[in-house]
Amino acid sequence: MWIDTHNHFDFPVFANSRAKDWQYAQSIGVVAQFVMAVSPHNFNKVSKLADDFANVYFALGIHPMFTADLDKTTAVKQLQMAIEANRLHPRFIGIGEIGLDGTLGKMQVQTDFFCAQLKLAKDYDLADEVLPMHLTARTNKLNTI
Ligand SMILES: [Zn+2]
Repeated sequence: MWIDTHNHFDFPVFANSRAKDWQYAQSIGVVAQFVMAVSPHNFNKVSKLADDFANVYFALGIHPMFTADLDKTTAVKQLQMAIEANRLHPRFIGIGEIGLDGTLGKMQVQTDFFCAQLKLAKDYDLADEVLPMHLTARTNKLNTI
C-alpha cells in the first residue's frame, strides 16, 4: 500500500491521461494521493480533482517559484479565501506547496510569502507541506507511470 504524499496531478501533462494514470497507480498499490496547489491559478483545479477522483486529497498554497509574479497581499488573501471556501471539504489536507527555494527568485520575497502562509496554517490549525530548501530534483511518482 502506497500513498503519494506530494504531486501535481493537475498539471497539463496529465490532461489527456489523468483518469487512466490514476487507475494504473491504484492498480499497483497507490491508495491515495495528495495534490499540491502552487498558486491561486490552480486552487480550483486541485480541489476539483478531489471532487472528481476517489482518494485524491489536496492542499492549497503558493510555491516559491510563483512568488515573483504575484502581489503578496492579493495572493495571500486569495489563499485565505480558498481556505475558507474549502476548510470543511473532506479532502482538504492543509497548506502546500510552500517553502523556500534558494535556486531561483528573491529570497526575501519567498520568505515573506512563506511566513504569511505559515501564519495562515497556524491561524486555521492546518498542516503544511513544505518544500525543502534547495530541493530542485523532487520527483513525481505519477510522472513516471
Ligand atoms: Zn511540488
